[in-house]
Amino acid sequence: MADTKKIKFLLVHPEISRTKYNFSGVIDNEPLELEYMLSVLKAEGYEAEIWDGQVEKESLVSRLKRFRPDYFYVCGRTRQETFMKEYCLAAKRICKSVTIIGGVHAHLNPERFFMNGIDHVVTSYDSARLLDIVGQSYGGKEGICYKTSEKWHIIPAEPYDIKKLPLPDRSYFYSHSDKYRYLELAPCAHVRTAFSCPYRCAFCIRNRANCGKYSVRDIADVVEEIAGINCKNIYIIDDDFLFDEKRVKEFIRLIREKNIRKKYVCYGRADFIAGHAELMKELKAIGFYYVLTGLEAVNDSYLQSYNKMTDMSCNEKAVRIMNNAGINIMGMFIVDLNFTASDFRNIYKWISEHDLKHAAISIFTPEMSTELIKKYKKRLITKDPAAWDYLHVVAKPEKMSVRRYYFYYHILLVRLFLRGWRDGIYDFLDYGEYIRSFLKNMFGFSG
Ligand code: SF4
Repeated sequence: MADTKKIKFLLVHPEISRTKYNFSGVIDNEPLELEYMLSVLKAEGYEAEIWDGQVEKESLVSRLKRFRPDYFYVCGRTRQETFMKEYCLAAKRICKSVTIIGGVHAHLNPERFFMNGIDHVVTSYDSARLLDIVGQSYGGKEGICYKTSEKWHIIPAEPYDIKKLPLPDRSYFYSHSDKYRYLELAPCAHVRTAFSCPYRCAFCIRNRANCGKYSVRDIADVVEEIAGINCKNIYIIDDDFLFDEKRVKEFIRLIREKNIRKKYVCYGRADFIAGHAELMKELKAIGFYYVLTGLEAVNDSYLQSYNKMTDMSCNEKAVRIMNNAGINIMGMFIVDLNFTASDFRNIYKWISEHDLKHAAISIFTPEMSTELIKKYKKRLITKDPAAWDYLHVVAKPEKMSVRRYYFYYHILLVRLFLRGWRDGIYDFLDYGEYIRSFLKNMFGFSG
């Protein structure tokens, strides 16, 4: 191995937002993608550190001045795009680092980062692409965009086989574990068992990740990894963990065989839950605590227009089954830009009538890499990527003003929060602060 010891990498995940209107302190995610990279880089003898803006006390500028990385990698979601660019400019200015952008937003929209101050955009899940960048051996290395003095060059990505992932280096998580949580489950470690999703819901970009190729790990390896994590709560961050009945059953068998006692969070679709009532009881018995389910709508026409491949009877059955099994189903809904005032009320009514305790509301957001963004182009009211956080209206609503839309949206949030307060489900939160901010935003959204 060459003398690589002096080459330093700083791996960065930006803060979520600079307004108070985010879920910091409620849902804070372990920077798993960076931990895979840390593992690969350390194995090759590089010096590497993580800086996660969600939890760090030291400013990025201070870390740059102290650590002086040769290579600076930053990943994030659409809403963090501006921070990612700003950070690269800081790394260039302060340390003259080689700057690299990654993460799903960049995978799907690399050209948004083709600018001065950024040297490479990685569009693959393969952490070894960082090693190719150090070696400048781009030939045949799919998933790297790089620039020469004349122009940017794109070597398109290929689907990555998730079985090649190393085990993540969780040293950063362990030293900040008091900061990472999913609601009341704290600390909470992340585990990934699959890339992408086999479904094709129209509003979603997750199914386009990994070049649209669903790739799964051997479930025995997953259980082995979970057994070795020193954390009592595990968030399986696959876009859909409850997909393959045989694989889920094998997961349950292995967890039991190894006598692993933890609580779990995962995503699972309503149609799978509706078809597997007994399996849900078994998942409850091994520790499944939250299942996050895209119920999306309260009538079939919206479900069809979203290509959800489910219907309302399936949604109703899923909630009933989870309530019987004693697993918290977190129903995720979309408030569409076609909504009338009564559509907002109907969401609350359905949630209440079906005794759904946990609900999350997203504002319909045409994703940048999809056909939807073309459809909504003329209606866009902002180009600021920070607004692509599902909490902001980015395109003009069809049946009311933006102001009125926010009014009904915030009324819905306040009603759901008051209901949650009555049920005592978010007792770890400062309800007052959230409700005050929703009320304030109801009369003039200020972020
Ligand atoms: S919404 Fe869920 S099920 Fe549909 S494509 Fe996205 S990740 Fe898959």
